[in-house]
Amino acid sequence: MMRQNKLFNNTRTSLALWYAGVMGLILSLLGMGVYKAISHAHWVALDNELESVAGTLHDSLELKLKQPGQIEPIIKELLPNLCIVGTSCITDRFNSQRHILSAVDRGNYYARLYDTSGRLIAIAGDYPEGLPQSLNTESWQTLSDRTNNIYHQISLSLHTQIREDWGYFQVGRSLKDFEDYLDQVKLVLLLGLPTSLILVAIASWWLAGLAMQPIYRSYQQIEQFTADAAHELRTPLAATQATVESALLVDLDPQETKDILTTIERENKRLIQLVGDLLMLARMDRKAIPLRRQLFCLNDLVSDLVEELEPLAIANQITLTNEFRVKKSLNVSGDCDQLYRLVYNLIVNAIQHTPSDGRVTVILERDASDALIKVKDTGIGIAPEHQKKIFDRFYRIQSDRSRNTGGSGLGLALAQSIARAHSFELSVRSELGQGSTFIFQLPLAVACNFQK
Ligand code: ADP
Repeated sequence: MMRQNKLFNNTRTSLALWYAGVMGLILSLLGMGVYKAISHAHWVALDNELESVAGTLHDSLELKLKQPGQIEPIIKELLPNLCIVGTSCITDRFNSQRHILSAVDRGNYYARLYDTSGRLIAIAGDYPEGLPQSLNTESWQTLSDRTNNIYHQISLSLHTQIREDWGYFQVGRSLKDFEDYLDQVKLVLLLGLPTSLILVAIASWWLAGLAMQPIYRSYQQIEQFTADAAHELRTPLAATQATVESALLVDLDPQETKDILTTIERENKRLIQLVGDLLMLARMDRKAIPLRRQLFCLNDLVSDLVEELEPLAIANQITLTNEFRVKKSLNVSGDCDQLYRLVYNLIVNAIQHTPSDGRVTVILERDASDALIKVKDTGIGIAPEHQKKIFDRFYRIQSDRSRNTGGSGLGLALAQSIARAHSFELSVRSELGQGSTFIFQLPLAVACNFQK
């Protein structure tokens, strides 16, 4: 249905695109945040591990060191694959089993021992080729080897058993596994982002459609309303135009002129009534008419209406009566003029849709807290499928158009609008051929002493 309308389709597309764009931005920021958090957590864990390995080794070594720059044999027991610089093990050791103590057995740690002059004395563990050998005494360092592999290293000073400076001790590890892991996280995020963006785009297209539906429906209602209003306005205008055109063609005697003017006046009245109803409906929709609440007596309102509409009823050979099923008068609070209009519309409808010799009765009764008004007729009745729709604007039952009551289909819409402004609902009970009863109820105010 919505597919037919270009404006709504374009709006839906741009809404969906905006939504997907904003969501994409949020998801990207979120992805970056997640990546940063994971990388930071890993980095901290890695530092802690490196620090604890270095600390353990450092403490164990210091207990054994006697002479500055001298490697005691017992140190080889602490670092089983220790290799003194200048001995042949430097070349052999790359093919051997590598580990520092048993605490770290992952093959990616190395240790270096320097004397106080900064000369490399020994290495142990998984020592990478091409790592810069010069001593850097900064406690934390990040280095790279010849093949650009990155290493993270901690540097500590070493002392002998009698607290003399021995030299320096460095423990480092390759960051390859860390970087591999981060690459994997990056890949998952990079693949996940477009996938979730596609899903977000589909969801936002669907959501935009859902959000546009009520707007589209009311847009259609406005379109329908405009078409109906134009159609209703055209009828009296066309009639007036035709009358004027034919009058201009001939010379008219005074009686004919009067007849024509009467026709024009009738059509004009119809137009004024229609425009008045439309204006009132529009104002009620915008809540532009303030509800002037006042206390008034429903019995008086009904009596006045019956009196005012009696001539119309007589002209249609209908018996119009009121029936007060309460002794006291019923006082209510509301906009008297609007409620007068509401009941007026109901009674006029009842008279217009009741064949001659029928009856229209306006019944007034009450229950514990409410006053009930019923406008009952013995007329043509309303089929169940029309009973809800008759309150819609411009709705007239098709079969009823032939009766040509002159109505525009706004009377009940206006009545329902007035009812809703007073927070109640107008309802109908009807059976085809038997008649209809329109009912509404509104809360009672203080009762006064009205005698029937
Ligand atoms: P209209 O100006 O045509 O009377 P309304 O909104 O008042 O418009 O009523 C809508 C339609 O409901 C009428 O055209 C008529 O077909 C039907 N209707 C209203 N009141 C009655 C009634 N008392 N008996 C039968 N049909 C009714």
